[in-house]
Amino acid sequence: MYDLLSQTPEELAGLLVSLGEPSYRAAQVFSALHGGARDAADMTALPLKLRERLAFPRPEPLTEQLSADGTRKLLFGLEDGQTVESVLLEYEGSSSENPETTVCISSQVGCGQGCAFCASALGGKARDLTAGEMLGQVLYCGVPVSRVVMMGIGEPLDNFENTVRFLRLLSHPKGLGMSLRRVTVSTCGLVPGILKLADLGLPVTLSVSLHAPDDETRNILMPVNRRYGLQELLFSCRMYFMKTGRRVSLEYALIRGVNDAPRQAAALAALLKEDRPHINLIPLNPVEGKPYRSPPREDAGRFADVLRQNGLSVTVRRRLGNDIDAACGQLRRRAAT
Ligand code: SAH
Repeated sequence: MYDLLSQTPEELAGLLVSLGEPSYRAAQVFSALHGGARDAADMTALPLKLRERLAFPRPEPLTEQLSADGTRKLLFGLEDGQTVESVLLEYEGSSSENPETTVCISSQVGCGQGCAFCASALGGKARDLTAGEMLGQVLYCGVPVSRVVMMGIGEPLDNFENTVRFLRLLSHPKGLGMSLRRVTVSTCGLVPGILKLADLGLPVTLSVSLHAPDDETRNILMPVNRRYGLQELLFSCRMYFMKTGRRVSLEYALIRGVNDAPRQAAALAALLKEDRPHINLIPLNPVEGKPYRSPPREDAGRFADVLRQNGLSVTVRRRLGNDIDAACGQLRRRAAT
């Protein structure tokens, strides 16, 4: 087996030459893979003899669940029997005949960050995904994709090299050629990773999961905050904006009685008054076995109003797919079969 899906055309050329093949075959292999070839037998442009030698591991869609709102959740099986979940969301695009599909992909099997309210943290991290396993979730989801969000299971910046490799493959002009402006990387706030990503200058949208207006509350919800506090985190977001010209957006999951009080909205507005990032409020999605609940709709509305009165731009995220546990924070590692 060769991990073909993780490789650039140049790396594929090296591999093919080492197999005694001409390097020009690399372009054929790369475009067949990125065109959705499920296995080497699908690469009909290649001679049969070569196809027989090019077995490669690939994520396999095992099951699909459809939500009442049209959101779909896919369970992908990986080579070693591990599984991850991806979610497909359809939005009306510029015309109704032309809906836009966003795929929300996972970057790790499980997650080691331990956020108190998130299902992906249950059971910890088993391993990182390869770049090819991330790409496979986009290639094999069964529809053309207009946006990719790295908001599934795992912490992309804790799998930095593979994430960047994935971004380069996804945007490769000989592959899907997706504009990185249509890609969002979401992080719980790994400051060194944010700074490293800023230095690369890729035009991806960075989304930071904030979830609290002060260190005390954030320390309880997100263990990462004990390593990198709020001031350090906001500084890294500022650097990201300076170096990439891309505005960072923030996620804030509203949790009843924990971070949803009007005074906390005011504290959040004060914290962000210099930077004025866009804020996505996410009414908490329930996770079995966790004590946290979402606030009543009016309280979420009031929280948003306080932010808006302070000049911040806010959206309250619709809850998509929560009847099939496909909403934010509900994806989890399944037992390996
Ligand atoms: N590790 C990255 C990527 C996960 S993105 C990150 O933390 O950003 C998933 C988003 O959903 C994050 O903002 C996460 O904090 C949020 N989330 C986690 N559990 C949730 C829940 N139960 N309800 C709503 N949002 C949740």
